[in-house]
Amino acid sequence: MAEQTETAPGAQQFIPPRADTLDDLRAAATGCRGCELYRDASQTVFGRGDAGARVVFVGEQPGDMEDQKGLPFVGPAGRLLRRAVDDARLDPGHIYLTNAVKHFRFEQRGKRRIHQTPDRVHITACRPWLVAEFAQLRPEVVVVLGATAAKALLGPTFRVTRQRGELLPWPESAQHPEDFRRVPVDARGGVADAPPARLLATIHPSAVLRADDQDKAYEGLVADLTVAARALAG
Ligand code: SF4
Repeated sequence: MAEQTETAPGAQQFIPPRADTLDDLRAAATGCRGCELYRDASQTVFGRGDAGARVVFVGEQPGDMEDQKGLPFVGPAGRLLRRAVDDARLDPGHIYLTNAVKHFRFEQRGKRRIHQTPDRVHITACRPWLVAEFAQLRPEVVVVLGATAAKALLGPTFRVTRQRGELLPWPESAQHPEDFRRVPVDARGGVADAPPARLLATIHPSAVLRADDQDKAYEGLVADLTVAARALAG
């Protein structure tokens, strides 16, 4: 079981200074020791999708199945998210999926591994990977799934329940917009302003699976994603 720590060295030192592609980052992330979560998890679960994706989804952390397969959003919550993406008429070919924290945090109970929400120390430690991913991506819409991802990108005061489904300017709505404002444009170290985009927060698909009224929670998720789909079309 991953013990709780107050501090962690953070991922920054594991990020190659001249990573040119998401594949470079993905390869480097396999060796990350930026917090203690790597010790009990099976492997790093990095983002997946095309660098040219129009929509970037940011979730919380890999779950049990994602940890085993090494891919994000392949468990029950991921299946539900894919259904919601279809129902919202978002093109699944234009999506990049990642998580705020890239190792599975869990508590071992007998043979079962029970999901544990990452602490602030894990979110902070892992954030450099998220910033590095965004440097390679040029989304038109960023979809934040749940409170952990919202904390990682928008800061601790953002409340998903209050502002879900609302289109916000990106990266201006980030807690540290300067981390996302300038992006590399060539291999010689050139940078330019990131193309303007929008951000939308909604609930995590796992919250739909836990809801008392799953149909209603699912409808809410689809409604929020439909806002994102319209933003792309508009
Ligand atoms: S959770 Fe993030 S910071 Fe911690 S070891 Fe894994 S990749 Fe590194």
